[in-house]
Amino acid sequence: MKKVAVVAVGGNALIREKGKHHIEHQFNAVRETAKHFAKMVADGWDVVVTHGNGPQVGFILRRAELSLKEVHPLPLDIIGAHTQGSIGYMLQQSLGNEFHRLGIDKQTCAVVTQSLVDKNDPAFQNPTKGIGGYIDDEELIEEYRSQGWTVEDDAGRGFRRKIASPKPLEIVETKVIKRLVDEGVVVIAVGGGGIPVIKDANGDLSAAPPAVIDKDRGTALLAMELNADIFVITTAVEKIAINFNTPDEKWLDQMTVSEAKRYMAEGHFKPGSMLPKVEAMLDYVETTGNKALVTDPDHLPQALKGETGTWIVPDEA
Ligand code: ADP
Ligand code: MG
Repeated sequence: MKKVAVVAVGGNALIREKGKHHIEHQFNAVRETAKHFAKMVADGWDVVVTHGNGPQVGFILRRAELSLKEVHPLPLDIIGAHTQGSIGYMLQQSLGNEFHRLGIDKQTCAVVTQSLVDKNDPAFQNPTKGIGGYIDDEELIEEYRSQGWTVEDDAGRGFRRKIASPKPLEIVETKVIKRLVDEGVVVIAVGGGGIPVIKDANGDLSAAPPAVIDKDRGTALLAMELNADIFVITTAVEKIAINFNTPDEKWLDQMTVSEAKRYMAEGHFKPGSMLPKVEAMLDYVETTGNKALVTDPDHLPQALKGETGTWIVPDEA
């Protein structure tokens, strides 16, 4: 029996060092990450890759703003689609090259993905998700604020523009993604959590109000809809810690659902970084009864063997 793994690639897998975000850097980072995914495929997993897009959305938005005198503005749904195309392309090419190198007879394909949201989601009134680079120019911060933007500290890492992040209710392309997975295609999907769309009374889809979906939430939803055997989030840390960044820091090999909920209530996971990941994994583990894993891309093969990473497991396990 083939096993389906849905694996999210964090922003850090594309931008490994602050300030090093040129395409060349992003492409090199994707190539590194693709090696680990190809190894998973060689080990027999059917892999579905998803990715974040927060920094890239902000960069494209800024580019559009700076060039308004000559070219048209870009709404956020179109910017989301741009990032699914560009990041999808880098992953698709890099995975394809790895398969070729390893002699794996596999096709890979990026699917432009929409995520259905509720236009009355209260999240639209409360922008929480950071996009773009970190801003230290006071004048620029004031300029953004005068345009109506929320500019706030992002998980203690610096000031960023913030945007609404509604809850994804349904991945519109799940059926076609499933068909591709069943055919053995390595699918790249749900980039940036999916492009947020709303449905009208006739069933027609259109762009949601300005928003970016949380990629961890969008990925968890796809993993549940595909009934995936495992949900993996790769990010900047090898494991999850309690008392993170304090002298009492303790790196965890495993958390049960109950333990994770207790740690969450005790405030061990930062909103905007680790908290959405833990919430997304709890949702998946509770719904499917399967396990979820957090690790960094370089430890992925080892973690899948149970040697590292933090595993989130059902209570009875
Ligand atoms: P991504 O771009 O992959 O979504 P984020 O930066 O949003 O990554 O979230 C991962 C980061 O969360 C880690 O690099 C780490 O700095 C931070 N973090 C917050 N709380 C914890 C915790 N309890 N354990 C480990 N990392 C944590
Ligand atoms: Mg994140």
